[in-house]
Amino acid sequence: EAVVYWMRMEDLRIHDNRALSLASAYANAEGVPLLALFVLSPQDYIAHDRSARRIDFTLRNLAHIKESLAKLQIPMVVISHCHRGTLPERIMTVLDGWNAKQLFANIEYEVDELRRDVRVCELACQRGTVKCTFVHDKCIIVPGTVKTKEDRGYSVYSPFLRAWLPHLTDQPDPLACAPDLQSNSPAIRQHGVYGHLFDTDVPEHVEGFELAKDDAEIMRTCWPAGEVAAEEMLRRWLHTKARSSQFGAADPLSDGATEPKNQLKDSRVGKYNDARDRVDADTTSRLSPYLAAGVVSARQCIRATMNLSVNKNTRVDASRETGIGRWVQELAWRDFYTHVLALFPRVSMGRPFIEKFANVSWETNEDDLQAWKDGRTGVPIVDAGMRQVNKMGWMHNRVRMITAMYLVKDLMIDWRLGEKYFMETLIDGDLASNNGGWQWSASTGVDPVPYFRIFNPYTQSKKADPTGDYIRYFVPELSKVFGEDVHNPPAKLAQKLGYPLPLVQHQEARQRAIRRYKNPGDV
Ligand code: FAD
Repeated sequence: EAVVYWMRMEDLRIHDNRALSLASAYANAEGVPLLALFVLSPQDYIAHDRSARRIDFTLRNLAHIKESLAKLQIPMVVISHCHRGTLPERIMTVLDGWNAKQLFANIEYEVDELRRDVRVCELACQRGTVKCTFVHDKCIIVPGTVKTKEDRGYSVYSPFLRAWLPHLTDQPDPLACAPDLQSNSPAIRQHGVYGHLFDTDVPEHVEGFELAKDDAEIMRTCWPAGEVAAEEMLRRWLHTKARSSQFGAADPLSDGATEPKNQLKDSRVGKYNDARDRVDADTTSRLSPYLAAGVVSARQCIRATMNLSVNKNTRVDASRETGIGRWVQELAWRDFYTHVLALFPRVSMGRPFIEKFANVSWETNEDDLQAWKDGRTGVPIVDAGMRQVNKMGWMHNRVRMITAMYLVKDLMIDWRLGEKYFMETLIDGDLASNNGGWQWSASTGVDPVPYFRIFNPYTQSKKADPTGDYIRYFVPELSKVFGEDVHNPPAKLAQKLGYPLPLVQHQEARQRAIRRYKNPGDV
């Protein structure tokens, strides 16, 4: 008899993990062994445009988790399953083979994953052998907790935040997880039959998702795996001073950060409110790969900010004026988009949230799309962003907005193609946040930018990268261009340096976009 914790791609940690804690508590109370299972499902990865980088990051984290669990005498088994349609049956077979009576897992809110889990429950009910427990874990506040007066999910961020914040402060502790994970040893000794499971390996690759050698090295340097690495990133973010040098290093951990004298004011998070939109310095936490994969939980991040908060009574100082407050609000954006996905599932089915924009006419220019992907649009800030994501698997939020808006409004290319490319390239690809970000930029989503408010990429560039260091670093053709020219090089200079001329004129493109959004269907 055994208890099984089924780990998913979004909960790659052993601390502060609800399903795992509950499974462990149950196993200990009943004196039965706890086993951990992870299923690699390449068909799902293809269907959901999962990047090879995210798969590689998953495997690297699993290797750490397997080791940590083994120290607690908990075996972890990683299996691969080819046909996603039959995955629930495979799960049942594995559970039967282990004589499992209890299955615990954290909920994944994507439609396909929910359907899969419902099928698992149905099969378990039919057989009557296994009891399934699926729990909320991804968000700080559970989806559905905050609703509008009309009992609907929020589709606008500000009222969502106003309703969300009191749950951090007034309500029963939303950050409470469950008892700590306990060692399996007595139970495993009595059930020696499971001992062989310790010998299984975490595969190094998933077929079809192998990384090129150079790329693998960059990913390992930029994004080291494991909970210890994530904790260190969080510690540096909250407790160390930003480096004074300008943007450059592709390695967030080798940023030469130093201990600040005044923890709150001088720390990196302390400067977040003022500096967060600057892309030419290390102004944000870069924790998104760890949050997306659940290597650190959003609850852990909030708890860590509480220890810094000046006002202990309110637990989280979420006023807009402080760095910590603003950072907590960004974590709330993550919750917001996940709540939207859970409560309005159509957003994950390729549909615009605002249905009237389903008929906007898009250009189908493969060359322009490819130029955008490659970072050859002739707009330096767009090209720097795209080259950054191609190289690092990550981009600063402001540049994600600029590059997304440029694809949709300047090139008039369907936002879903950009959404797909980001998912295929990012190491932090997350359906809820990526879809939210793309539909915001395309003016089709929840609480979007109005369609007529179109970013001027050159003005944005001057604000986000006033030194030009970001562009010079990622666009080597412009590495010797200083002053205003780096944001919009004159044609003669661009030609001389081998840098492309702009694909479109921004003002004309802007008029075209406004026309097409105003009258969806018109070309
Ligand atoms: P910080 O500024 O340090 O913020 C802390 C955390 O808050 C982030 O790690 C993230 O988990 C969350 N967060 C911050 N801003 C947002 C936001 N606007 N929406 C949702 N969560 C947010 N984020 C992803 O995690 N995965 C994606 O696939 C993704 N795709 C995006 C696509 C577009 C077009 C846009 C505009 C935004 C996208 N974002 C995505 C949101 C945001 O850009 C990243 O979360 C952020 O840049 C990550 O950097 P950071 O960890 O340094 O963020």
